[in-house]
Amino acid sequence: MSVHEIKTKVLGYPRIGQERQLKKATESYWKGEITLEALKQAGQQIRKDNWLKQKAAGIDFVPSNDFSYYDQMLDMSCLLGNVPARFQWDGKTIDLDTLFFMARGLRPGATAKSTTTACEMTKWFDTNYHYIVPEYSASTNFTLSSTKVFDEFKEAKELGIVTVPVLIGPVTYLLLGKGPTGFDPLSLLDKLLPVYEDILKRLSALGAEWVQIDEPVFALDLTGRQLETIKKTYERLSKTAGVKLIVATYFGELRANLQTFAQLPVAALHIDAVRGTGEVTEVARSIGGQKLLSVGVIDGRNIWKNDFTASLEILNQTKSIIGARLIVSPSCSLIHTPITLDQEPKLDAELKNWMAFAEQKLQELVQLRGLLDGTTGKDVLAANSQAISSRVTSKRIHKEEVAKRVKAVQQKDLNRASAFPQRRAVQINRLHLPLFPTTTIGSFPQTTEVRNLRSQWKKNAIDTKQYEAAMEAEIKRCVEIQHEIGIDMLVHGEFERNDMVEYFGEQLEGFTFTANGWVQSYGSRYVKPPVIFGDVYRPKPMTVRWSAFAQTLTKKPMKGMLTGPVTISQWSFVRDDQPRSQTVKQIALAIRDEVLDLEKAGIAAIQIDEPALREGLPLRKQDWLAYLRWAVDAFRLSCSGVKDETQVHTHMCYAQFNDIIEAIADLDADVISVETSRSNMELLGAFESFRYPNEIGPGVYDIHSPRVPETAEMVDLLTKASRVLPAEHIWVNPDCGLKTRGWPEVKQALKNMVAAAQQMRTRVKVLS
Ligand code: GLN
Ligand code: ZN
Repeated sequence: MSVHEIKTKVLGYPRIGQERQLKKATESYWKGEITLEALKQAGQQIRKDNWLKQKAAGIDFVPSNDFSYYDQMLDMSCLLGNVPARFQWDGKTIDLDTLFFMARGLRPGATAKSTTTACEMTKWFDTNYHYIVPEYSASTNFTLSSTKVFDEFKEAKELGIVTVPVLIGPVTYLLLGKGPTGFDPLSLLDKLLPVYEDILKRLSALGAEWVQIDEPVFALDLTGRQLETIKKTYERLSKTAGVKLIVATYFGELRANLQTFAQLPVAALHIDAVRGTGEVTEVARSIGGQKLLSVGVIDGRNIWKNDFTASLEILNQTKSIIGARLIVSPSCSLIHTPITLDQEPKLDAELKNWMAFAEQKLQELVQLRGLLDGTTGKDVLAANSQAISSRVTSKRIHKEEVAKRVKAVQQKDLNRASAFPQRRAVQINRLHLPLFPTTTIGSFPQTTEVRNLRSQWKKNAIDTKQYEAAMEAEIKRCVEIQHEIGIDMLVHGEFERNDMVEYFGEQLEGFTFTANGWVQSYGSRYVKPPVIFGDVYRPKPMTVRWSAFAQTLTKKPMKGMLTGPVTISQWSFVRDDQPRSQTVKQIALAIRDEVLDLEKAGIAAIQIDEPALREGLPLRKQDWLAYLRWAVDAFRLSCSGVKDETQVHTHMCYAQFNDIIEAIADLDADVISVETSRSNMELLGAFESFRYPNEIGPGVYDIHSPRVPETAEMVDLLTKASRVLPAEHIWVNPDCGLKTRGWPEVKQALKNMVAAAQQMRTRVKVLS
């Protein structure tokens, strides 16, 4: 450790490798192209690089076991020997193949026959990272079953680094898992804690001084009983001899959980001082006279340079309360940020100077500590202040026009001219749709040819004229196929789009893109989110050209296709110099411009996708209403400029609506399409107690599976739907876009879907 009294700490470091080595190695291993040994070597190399990098940067508390071949929650399930029976685990030490089997439902190297349902995956708090959900029931037993955490500790020690092993805490592990309805997961603690004690003892025996235990559930609403249980849990674990515990919370404020957290009987605590800035001093005052406090002032979830002046104010205040028991750290694990700006040669210097990726954040930590204890020169602070203030005043960020427009938004801009029933009457006259109209969600299969076309055009291998002609040919083919199948409302197919957010970001001002800014989304899937750095506006139409062309090919209505403002922000790195709601409002105005241009071009129906609306929900229930208010308003702002005769659609790919159904209705889209086929119309429960006022297309074709659904199945789903929804409000469509599917299956499935709609029509006629 360094000679500094005040220490620096990292909670977790990106594990995908600077060249995305882990993805390449893992996927090659799954395909049988490399051996398990080769995969393990790739992992070992990444860990070694990460440890040495952090050490060299001057980090005192360097983590281990933050590495994972798939996911840290899954690693925890393996460590605890919690493997669902369907994976037929032999009870011995869990190997990587079993771990991959759980994650993917397929054993590496096994035939497709030896598959089973993979473990469920879900979002890690409000990040875009997904974890593998632990499964348990009252009869679940836990036994120490993996050596990963010990092996990696030893591995680092051999490099001369005594790391801080990271574990997911027992309470978070259980509360984020899934058991039978009504089952209290914390009732398993008595069986679980002996394994944790065992792990801690072994780590201590190997020479670990500290162990970091992550309990981010402290950022959630917890009951008094749960808080009491957490307290008891740590009273027990803290008695494990030889090792000091640092319990970490992140992703939000502590609020009512603050005192319980601050008084946990452990050696150190970590808090998220980015999202919980206002609580830092209260925590510092409440931790007692012994504990260390790690203050996460550097944003682990975003890519902006830290404002040293602001951070130093928090750190100095804390220091005045707890002295040198202070640790400087990022707010959370750095797995949520890209690895390094050094790999961004094309990013222009001014923008780059406002950013910090994981590697730059290491430097920031050490510099901040240096500024605190006076070992870093004031020139570092001056350079930082300079960068921060150039961002505050930059004309590249702040556009007067945008600010004016946002300010001028009025309530009337959020409302359609007439209420739904009146609009509906006009739309029926214009669109001439049958009962149970059929449509799709937007994208059609993205074949290799289509992807090649786009990349050739980007590389200037073909010129714009050639590109547009080729795209038009694709659209034409797609329209012909839809005609042939007999779809009622057509789409152009979205062949020109790589990604539903990136496509719009590239055409809007205020966005920039990285070359290598990858972050793990789940397993071997990484994403490269756009960066929203400045005021957003639309310099010129983005989609009109394609939609207008497609409309010339058919007399049937061609649906325009846009991504909504909430989703665009949710899947990007957003500005930290204004509230997200403000950024979203700017995007909404840009989308509004596009909507109006589509209308002007004669497009009679426009779909604005908001698949990320639900995932933007805050962690605390108390904050939901405020979020839903501005999110719904943003959607309404984006679409309400149109005339009554223009039909607004929206789409969301999930069915968990029960708790936000009123907000969904409040979007006031004329038509909404949602996921329901996987959950067998589970969603419909929400409509039994709440009468959804507008039209709705409950997805009848699960596009996540290559299986072609039979007509009868879809008729069955539609029949279920017509029991709770008026038949004249029901649309017939797949669950989501078709871009990941192949043409033959799509054609057959859509034919069956159209046949299902026809059967429904005849049936309703007979009844009436
Ligand atoms: N319109 C988009 C598509 O069809 C919607 C994608 C989504 O909901 N994720 O691909
Ligand atoms: Zn979808």
